[in-house]
Amino acid sequence: MSSESSIDRSTIWPYRGGEPDRFYYSRYDHPTGVEAEAALARLEGGPALLFASGAAATTAAMFGLLEPGQTIALAEGCYYGTSMLFAAFERWGVRFVEFDQRGAPPAGADLVWLEAPSNPYLTFPDMEAAAAHPAPVLVDATASTPVLFRPLEHGADVVLHSATKYLTGHHDALLGALVFRSETTHARIKELRGLTGAVASADVAWLLLRGLKTLGARVERQSATALELARRLTSHPRVERVRYPGLGDERAARFMRGGFSGLLSFDVAGDAGVVERSTRLIVNATSLGGVDSLIETRRRWEGGRVPENLLRLSVGLEDVDELWADLEQALAAA
Ligand code: PLP
Repeated sequence: MSSESSIDRSTIWPYRGGEPDRFYYSRYDHPTGVEAEAALARLEGGPALLFASGAAATTAAMFGLLEPGQTIALAEGCYYGTSMLFAAFERWGVRFVEFDQRGAPPAGADLVWLEAPSNPYLTFPDMEAAAAHPAPVLVDATASTPVLFRPLEHGADVVLHSATKYLTGHHDALLGALVFRSETTHARIKELRGLTGAVASADVAWLLLRGLKTLGARVERQSATALELARRLTSHPRVERVRYPGLGDERAARFMRGGFSGLLSFDVAGDAGVVERSTRLIVNATSLGGVDSLIETRRRWEGGRVPENLLRLSVGLEDVDELWADLEQALAAA
């Protein structure tokens, strides 16, 4: 990105000689979006499209990659909103079956949907088994980002990001992205995006350009801090279990480069609700991937499908010892 990149907020561009020019109406595409898509494409290694949110990108992928009545093999324990969204579309003929992404996807599925690593369990998928499946493979790489893992290099056909998280990185932009191996699929889903109006605004596309300037530095630091906190939590007497790929997940270690995400989860021996309400530096809020550390129980959103004592922590850019001191005092209250 050149430092003079500007936001073009126009929704229209004049015809030239009576014919539409490269840009003509912003619901289809616009210069700021195209520039941001090109920047993401360079990082991931395939053409990219931006959407109004991660969920809008999920919806576009679902409609663009499936025929009515086909089945998605969905990674069990992946982002709750994704399974809720597929469930909401079941009455339009979308089917999904959940499977453990650490093993092979079920035979007969028409689309394999993975998360690397998954939110909030932090499991890493078996990319080789997924690539060997005949169906196209989509990897939601929100929690790893192209800094740590580039799915297209490992057999994936489509990459999805909630760019609301690390890619923009400051808790001030709602944005989604898809990146494609195939130009044909890219063109088909771009057409669908224009028809459905799921496009991202120029302002938010610009926030992606800004976020990408610091993405490497942020993710590197967040991952290093998360690893250190995960290690310390492992030996804390009030912690039963730490879920983090940097703690001995050999598959993650083989595929991820330079870190294991700034996202981690841990199960407390005690009342997780008290812990989330007792942190002072770490904000008790949902979402992840931004400069401020956030913590929450997932039970409030996901109900019985997650352990009651599981806390999800998204590590920000604060000092590791200050974060640890905050966690220690909050755990003491549990
Ligand atoms: N995928 C993952 C892994 C997520 O964590 C989220 C949101 O939390 C989404 C997709 C949906 O993204 P958005 O909230 O930007 O619509």
